[in-house]
Amino acid sequence: MQLKIYNSLAGEKEIFKPILEGNVGMYVCGPTVYSNVHLGNVRTFLSFDFIYRSLTHLGYKVRYVRNITDAGHLTDDGDVNNDRFVKQTRLEKLEPMEIVQKYTVDFHKVLDMFNLLPPNIEPTATGHIVEQIELTQKLIETGFAYESNGSVYFDVLEYNARGLNYGELSKRNIEELFANTRDLDGQGEKKNPQDFALWKKASQAHIMRWNSPWGEGFPGWHLECTAMSTKYLGETFDIHGGGMDLKFPHHECEIAQGKACNGASPVNYWMHANMLTMNSQRMSKSTGNYILPMQLVSGENDFFEKSFHPAIVRFCFLQAHYRSVLDISNDAMLASEKGFGRLMEALKILNSITPNDEKQSGFSLEDWKTKCYDALTDDFNSPILIAHLFEAVKFIFALKDEKETISDKDLEDLKSTLNAFVFDVLGLQNIEENNNEKLDQTLQVLIELRNQARKSKNFDLSDQIRDKLLAEGIELKDGREGTTYSIS
Ligand code: AMP
Ligand code: ZN
Repeated sequence: MQLKIYNSLAGEKEIFKPILEGNVGMYVCGPTVYSNVHLGNVRTFLSFDFIYRSLTHLGYKVRYVRNITDAGHLTDDGDVNNDRFVKQTRLEKLEPMEIVQKYTVDFHKVLDMFNLLPPNIEPTATGHIVEQIELTQKLIETGFAYESNGSVYFDVLEYNARGLNYGELSKRNIEELFANTRDLDGQGEKKNPQDFALWKKASQAHIMRWNSPWGEGFPGWHLECTAMSTKYLGETFDIHGGGMDLKFPHHECEIAQGKACNGASPVNYWMHANMLTMNSQRMSKSTGNYILPMQLVSGENDFFEKSFHPAIVRFCFLQAHYRSVLDISNDAMLASEKGFGRLMEALKILNSITPNDEKQSGFSLEDWKTKCYDALTDDFNSPILIAHLFEAVKFIFALKDEKETISDKDLEDLKSTLNAFVFDVLGLQNIEENNNEKLDQTLQVLIELRNQARKSKNFDLSDQIRDKLLAEGIELKDGREGTTYSIS
């Protein structure tokens, strides 16, 4: 089985060859934790969660690193009024690290809700200031960067003069870039407007600041990802991911920094996830065209007619390929809900099927498995994979209606393969099972409270608990083994 990955740098699908056989180093740009993540952000992280799960399922040992951007994801002019952290600290009257903590916790909660697996390493920019200063020093020593008024910039013209190719990822022509850009910062600190900050001098108002050989300041956003990715994955690693919008300048700058520092391109396969749109417009906080994940899950919004379970949102996202734009709409969510329900019903039916070893079936399990793996290894094609899973669903319904048969061996194989694709690879959750678990936990709490009430001779309360549950169709029975319940 050969895995093919669309490499944005090559502009085509390539056969995936990891640096170390059987192992994958993968870095994905994390969130800037100055406000809540919107549903669009979730789509990108979910795309890479699916890729991570797929790689693991295919047998690779993956080291997955996803950072937290908690130091000025600054606008390149370094104006403190444009620094998102500083703006938010003023708005919420909180310390910068309180903002960071608040939104990091929120980010984790949201991803947990959509059943994303945690990365193996989640480094923060503020925890890697030393590494960023060292890289900046190295770039100055090798002549790729220069200091100007307490800030340090990467010299893009020098980089190109040495035969390196700024613009290779975004396919931008450097001459055009120079011709079309005016120097907007007006400070005259940079030699060229395309030069980007590695280190920025902090103004008086800037609270997040660190000492450096160039005075007090803070690191540039592009540099943090170079520092953290190469620290944990090596100077050249296998996969680097992020949203499409990060291709330029962020990832272009990471390539330039990596090549200038280490003489080699930092990443073998660049992967870019496409955008989530709503009303056919990119979801984004700045335009106001966005929905928060909780608003969709709770139903508290003006856009969707009802609430949707996170597993259904996840299923909806995976019905589009990660490189395609996905427009989220009420109809799309309703269709996903229906499809999800049918898939879960089929899995339930599968447990009650009786095998029949005598008759031949028209469904070839081996062919079906091959098609599923072909889809997965063809640049992680989740919509095609899901389409194949629905062929199995159709077959399962035919088994139920006794229009088809399956042998004992194939039944076990179908069960384990389908469960692996649905729960391990797609990362879906069985809503019904989860609800049952929750109900059981809640009833155990009520039984415990009733026992406590009885012990303290508060029979009024203990009777109330029993009677109210009975009114809801839940009967408590006291026996020698303790209290059990039955639901009618
Ligand atoms: P940020 O916190 O702004 O750095 O964004 C976190 C991630 O979300 C980045 O990988 C972005 O590319 C991605 N992103 C931002 N907007 C969208 C969107 N509308 N759809 C999908 N991904 C997005
Ligand atoms: Zn990054």
